[in-house]
Amino acid sequence: MAESEFFAGLDIGGSTVKTVLVDHVGELAGEMIELRSHVKDGYEATFGQLEQALDQLTAGIGISRDQVKGVGMDVPAPSCDGVIWGKANLHENWVGTNIRDQFSERIGGTPVYMTNDGNAAALGEYAVRKKHHGGLLLVAPGTGLGGGLVLPGGRAYEGANGLALEVGHISAPHREDDGELPQCSCGKHGCLEAWCSLVALRRRIGLELAKPENSDHPLNDDSPIEEKAFKLRDFAQAGDELAIQIFRQQGQILGYGIADLVRVFDPGLVVLGGGLAETEGFRDDYLGWIMEGFEERAWPMYSKSPIDPDKITTRFEWAIGGDSAAALGVAFSAREMFRS
Ligand SMILES: [Zn+2]
Repeated sequence: MAESEFFAGLDIGGSTVKTVLVDHVGELAGEMIELRSHVKDGYEATFGQLEQALDQLTAGIGISRDQVKGVGMDVPAPSCDGVIWGKANLHENWVGTNIRDQFSERIGGTPVYMTNDGNAAALGEYAVRKKHHGGLLLVAPGTGLGGGLVLPGGRAYEGANGLALEVGHISAPHREDDGELPQCSCGKHGCLEAWCSLVALRRRIGLELAKPENSDHPLNDDSPIEEKAFKLRDFAQAGDELAIQIFRQQGQILGYGIADLVRVFDPGLVVLGGGLAETEGFRDDYLGWIMEGFEERAWPMYSKSPIDPDKITTRFEWAIGGDSAAALGVAFSAREMFRS
């Protein structure tokens, strides 16, 4: 392992692009550089940004570009072997182009690893837990519900076509008040994301506030639903019954879904990401609700060993990787794959 080797992590998101370098032992080298994303302008515009960022990162720690021996990049869309399959909020020219190979060519043949943002975030959580070598399942409720799985040893499980771990779109059997499975942003009905995401929260608030018994609720004003969803956490923290009920239901359904994922993968460690990871205090309540759902759905052996009650079989932790997790995660993978 050569000390002069460095690896880049390029996290391409819909609103920001975050870039880092790690050294030969995988430690962050220099500062993260964050840029406003131009993904809607086509991939060439982003390539230009990434190249500039690489120049800045290497200059920042006084190394040359050819000391970067590998690049990891992640994209906010399903992809397979370097080719993006669905455009999400990207410009359409991202789809069908081999982004990985094109970018590698553009930077002089430096090898590139590419994956989706969920896997990258899971890899990041794995990379920052230096003493953890087992499996890791990330579940991250945000605007949608993302996730990823890292196998013991540190490789993301991506499936045959890069389509694995779409955790937001597994079935949730829960029905809305009208008896129907709610529609998901993916177009299907009955996805877990249709209950456990910011989008779901907005629907639930709207439906609850329309009920006569909630007509006096202080959130029943003229403010837009986005604002109400934003305020709901403060209400829950202040003990508001309706807010707690909405979050509790969401947490329980998420726990129910995680129980099924744990039953399939038995990862040993579940990391909860998304915005909630940043909310000290409230997140403890939320984790309690997740555990209610988890314990209802999973057999007790998925919580504790039936033989040794001191042995926890599934640990739950909040994400600790912060903003740079995905960039660090793909840099970590690039180092694993391309170091000498
Ligand atoms: Zn869906």
